[in-house]
Amino acid sequence: MTGTIQAHTFRPRDLIGGHIVIDLVNTVTARDAEPIDWLDGYPRLLEWAALTGQFDPAALTALQRLAETEPGNAALALDRSRELREALHDLITALIHQDAPAPAEAVDQVENHWKHAVASARLTVRGNTPQLQVSVETSGLEYLNHELALQAFDLLRSLPLERTRVCPGLRCGWVFIDSSRGGRRRWCDMATCGNSAKGRTHYQRKRQTASQQGHHQPPNDQ
Ligand SMILES: [Zn+2]
Repeated sequence: MTGTIQAHTFRPRDLIGGHIVIDLVNTVTARDAEPIDWLDGYPRLLEWAALTGQFDPAALTALQRLAETEPGNAALALDRSRELREALHDLITALIHQDAPAPAEAVDQVENHWKHAVASARLTVRGNTPQLQVSVETSGLEYLNHELALQAFDLLRSLPLERTRVCPGLRCGWVFIDSSRGGRRRWCDMATCGNSAKGRTHYQRKRQTASQQGHHQPPNDQ
């Protein structure tokens, strides 16, 4: 990804991917134009992780403390998050578009992340479900990367390709899994990209300037 890094306060409407791994991919917006990376620091990654509701708050607090004492390692961990995210983006969009063969570099990177995660993981059995489990204790600042890499592997094996789409909205490019009953969801969010497209149809000239800014960006961003 080439683009700019921009501070962003994550909100629930930024989590529309239908899976946490796809929501990670969507921490970059405007991939169809000049991509904007919203992960402007490790604390932002923690903020995003907290919003997903899929991590133990105590673990996130522990990571925050670790990042404060080891800022250099936190920056490296964030670089790894970005690397995983971009590899997943390239791989998932190649799968959606049925590009064959899948981009080798992306596959190698996902494999590399998954292997690191597994090396830090323990096999646990909860109820009747064996699972690979990582922790801050064993993964340190890489905990989120490890957890996301494990979940990415599960997702990739079961990705519903006919239901996985890229939003065609202007300056969007978000990926999502369409879980609607009819399976005809086209936009990441009807209230933003969908309406924006409708607006362009009806008021193209009048709204040209506003729509060029894209719905994920200021000043339309609230
Ligand atoms: Zn969109």
